[in-house]
Amino acid sequence: MPPRRALAFSADSIVHTDIPIPLEPTGKPRASDGAVRVLIVDDDAFMIRLLATMLARLGDFEIRGESDPQVALRAVREHGDSFDAVVLDLNMPGVDGMAFLRHLAQIGYAGCVVPFSGEAPEVLDSVAQLARAHGLHVAGALSKPPRREQLQALPWACAGRGLQQPAVEPAWQPAETDLREALAQGQVECFYQPKVDVHTGALAGFEALARWRHPSHGLVPPGRFVPLAESCGAISELTRRVFEASFAQQAQWRARGLDVSVSVNAAARDLADLGFVDFVCDCAGRHDVPPASVVIEVTESQLGGDPRLLAEVMGRLRLRRFELAIDDFGSGYASLSQLRDVIFDEIKIDRDFTHAAHESLRSKVLFDSSATLGRRLGMRVVAEGVEDRLDWEFCRGHGVHLAQGNFIGRPMPAADVPRWHDAWSGRVVAQRLAPLPAKA
Ligand code: C2E
Ligand code: MG
Ligand code: MG
Repeated sequence: MPPRRALAFSADSIVHTDIPIPLEPTGKPRASDGAVRVLIVDDDAFMIRLLATMLARLGDFEIRGESDPQVALRAVREHGDSFDAVVLDLNMPGVDGMAFLRHLAQIGYAGCVVPFSGEAPEVLDSVAQLARAHGLHVAGALSKPPRREQLQALPWACAGRGLQQPAVEPAWQPAETDLREALAQGQVECFYQPKVDVHTGALAGFEALARWRHPSHGLVPPGRFVPLAESCGAISELTRRVFEASFAQQAQWRARGLDVSVSVNAAARDLADLGFVDFVCDCAGRHDVPPASVVIEVTESQLGGDPRLLAEVMGRLRLRRFELAIDDFGSGYASLSQLRDVIFDEIKIDRDFTHAAHESLRSKVLFDSSATLGRRLGMRVVAEGVEDRLDWEFCRGHGVHLAQGNFIGRPMPAADVPRWHDAWSGRVVAQRLAPLPAKA
């Protein structure tokens, strides 16, 4: 006989499970091991019951329903780690879905959220984007009435993250003197993140990303010291360190037969410095690195300076055969005239447009437009922020040449590159990430 399904239901709450799960006096559901614990917040009790019934037919779910958003918020605040996912109706009296999402982010809820509404798909998409902007994990959006296939397709497995994040200490903020000392003592080094061909899986190159190995604060990410370097005038020195280190590394790779490009980030101040071109040429010459194997990345927001100076510096780099990339495309302020006046070899679509583009109509359109623009201007199209298999498959079908992101490999020290390369080559075959090269 199939297990008897219990349904506990009152005016504003419902619990539906294979095994009856009584609510504790606090309202905290007791979860049995392995079940996905879902909180459905909807002022329509019928909708809660419908969704709960459909989920219970799909698998091992423990469900709590709340028709009062205030009560639901209190439950998440007090027992956030009891819920792997929160399914959220967008139109509720009192607290609407948008405000609910903001509150979830404020209390540090770390499980999945699933916006749930009868509104048009674009509205659901935009709410999902807002949730991501709040730093929440969005498992996907659910339209009303819910369809079985939609429920099946949602990655409920990401629900394993449903633990309240421990309170973190505020990050250490270095001062200018700390940074200057670090540069003088050689504490700034490079990590390398691979870029691969989306059609063959072949390794194409690495982006050099600065890391500060601080003796007591550990590995400090660039977001915490690059803006400081820009504002205090230490950026030229930082850039030069990164160029030196990454060119030396590339020369080592080439000596061992690994024929890859290296991409390095330049800052606005570098692009306004006529001496920068001489430095880059001299550095490449000293390390015997061919200019055509170097990509100099410039973010859109760095392009705001004196356009004549910028055109001269970038034009001279190009005449010396270095390649130029426009980085984080879509996130900044590049105007069409800049794309007309500076010839870029590569366009890197910002990770905000890549990750989860497959599930948002608007991101998809923006992604496709950027990729088409790049291709039609003769650029190599690189997608940044490829975080999972779905992003990878999306890129393969949407005009991308190269992909970069955590799905392929996180930034790593040069010493880890050979191990990563072996593992990646194995994954390409085992997981059928790309067609195998034709046999000779
Ligand atoms: P960027 O040049 O766009 O580099 C890519 C950033 O995206 C890196 O962050 C990388 O770790 C991150 N990333 C890569 N794949 C994924 C993914 O799948 N998901 C997510 N969420 N993130 C991913 P990182 O290393 O923290 O660098 C941040 C930014 O700092 C860089 O963005 C770049 O603008 C700047 N930066 C890094 N190194 C340097 C440098 O040497 N000079 C200058 N001027 N800026 C640098
Ligand atoms: Mg970059
Ligand atoms: Mg980027």
